[in-house]
Amino acid sequence: MQVNQFLELPYSYDALEPYIDAKTMEIHHSKHHRKYYDTFIDLIKGTDLESERIEDVLAYPNEIPENIRQKVINNGGGYFNHNIFWEIMGPNAGGEPEGKLMQSINENFGSFEDFKMKFNEVATTHFGSGWAWLVLNSDDKLQIMPTLNQDNPISKSNFPLMGIDLWEHAYYLKYQNKRPEYIENWWNVVNWENVLSRYNQI
Ligand code: MN
Repeated sequence: MQVNQFLELPYSYDALEPYIDAKTMEIHHSKHHRKYYDTFIDLIKGTDLESERIEDVLAYPNEIPENIRQKVINNGGGYFNHNIFWEIMGPNAGGEPEGKLMQSINENFGSFEDFKMKFNEVATTHFGSGWAWLVLNSDDKLQIMPTLNQDNPISKSNFPLMGIDLWEHAYYLKYQNKRPEYIENWWNVVNWENVLSRYNQI
């Protein structure tokens, strides 16, 4: 039984304008994301992984058959990373988180502003393609970390609460080489309610 479905975007392509443009969203979701998903499904066809949720596949990378392991990490990771990315963004979003998430951010980083500054620094200075994440680490603490390529924090026992795509395909049409500007504008589309519900589900 195939348990991993292709996720439609939960809002329209232009819903994140003007911060993320409709053309970028369309290509990103219908081409890049689709390609990661299709490749992943092809790779696991006929294997035991077919009946496992993607987060469980990626949580135990050593159990992925060696001949397809790196490709599953790349393409399954691409699929899973983007599922999170679409979910934690939305229209009429931004601002600051509430509830126990805000409380934890204050405890771990001092203040929301300090958290944002540190996250921006990690995202801005990450070299090449990858992601910057806010995770709950294995010590139950919030932590900011980058990952390379389509690696997901879950493969090292860190639960991803939210993350920003740092691949050039995520911003190049609108921002070209100005990654810091993309990151700064991205905060306006972070849907904190969804991030909080991810936090509450752990
Ligand atoms: Mn992407």
